[in-house]
Amino acid sequence: MRIYADNAATTQPSHAAIEAMLPLLWEGYGNPSSLYTFGQRAKEALEQARADIAEVIRADPKELVFTSGGSEADNQAILSAAELGRKAGKRHIISTAFEHHAVLHTLNKLEKDGFTLTLLDVHENGMVRPEELEAAIGDDTCLVTIMSANNEIGTVQPVRELGAICAKHAVLFHTDAVQAVGHLPVDVKADHIDLLSASAHKFHGPKGVGFLYARKGVRLTNLIEGGAQENGRRGGTENVPGIVGMATALKESAARMAENAERISALRDRLIEGLREIPHSALNGDSVRRLPGNVNFCFEGIEGESLLLLLDDRGICASSGSACTSGSLDPSHVLLAIGRVHDVAHGSLRLSLGEDATEEEVEYIIRNVKEVVAYLRGFSPVWRDLMSGKAQFIL
Ligand SMILES: *Cc1c(COP(=O)(O)O)cnc(C)c1O
Repeated sequence: MRIYADNAATTQPSHAAIEAMLPLLWEGYGNPSSLYTFGQRAKEALEQARADIAEVIRADPKELVFTSGGSEADNQAILSAAELGRKAGKRHIISTAFEHHAVLHTLNKLEKDGFTLTLLDVHENGMVRPEELEAAIGDDTCLVTIMSANNEIGTVQPVRELGAICAKHAVLFHTDAVQAVGHLPVDVKADHIDLLSASAHKFHGPKGVGFLYARKGVRLTNLIEGGAQENGRRGGTENVPGIVGMATALKESAARMAENAERISALRDRLIEGLREIPHSALNGDSVRRLPGNVNFCFEGIEGESLLLLLDDRGICASSGSACTSGSLDPSHVLLAIGRVHDVAHGSLRLSLGEDATEEEVEYIIRNVKEVVAYLRGFSPVWRDLMSGKAQFIL
């Protein structure tokens, strides 16, 4: 048995997406920039995909640039806004400490380049407070970049409210919507979004393809110089099969969004209820304003990576914000941003349910996490110190 509960890391490509890609790989391999009919057919498929995606997020097709994924879109959005800021003599950027590294590392680069950065508090519940955004905006602010939904703790920000504040102060608003697109309604106009990043493999499309929405009038800086593809905003022959697969997956996700969200949220809430029975545990992130499939817990006295390995033995694919899995000495910057101390953050578990999750799977996960946490605590020196009163419980 395998229970895939790591949909925030990547999702299974949908049947329809793969079916839509195959003819473009086998026969329809023409270059969309070629003038003959064979190339023009690929061009038509490309433009149809652009129109389909634009419709889902209420954009104009001309406002979309296809990229290699969410990371590239984040980089291009932020560097473009910074370039516009630089030209206008504005060098202040507002963001949060729990953004994806594609955003944070790009911001760090800009900081070294003379930009100043304000990182808004995301508080214990992992939510940005709109009034704190408004208070942080100054005459020098050229960009606000805040993610729509967090990939680790799943909290969903009040994007429309944040966008309205940026619009009121005439500051560009970028949102990394990689976890939101295909899962939650996105309307770039109503939400006052100037720049938005998305990635196909987070909504049942293929990997290595995504898009950047840039509102008409927002000039983009190229990351990749080359031919005149994408209206001169990104060089390189387009990944036509990937883009068509992405559009197919997004249309499908959009059509099933409301129904899926309701069903998956119910399973998520059951999973949260079950895991809450584990003593000295805590849910990370707001319990209501979170992605339909996201569950993230800290369990005191254990190591996240041991938990993952033992869950893997029992067929459960999950993720953790502990140090070893993040490839650094520090635990997840997201968990630290919501105020979890190192020891507690090390014992974290993220389960992200997909649309084919079942009640039986959720019960299986609950039972097995309970068993594995108890087992690991049985020989954890940290747990022994907590139980003997030598150390204090935090949760
Ligand atoms: C996955 C993810 C990204 C990166 O997208 P890629 O397509 O894998 O480059 C960026 N931001 C968030 C919030 C993500 O979840």
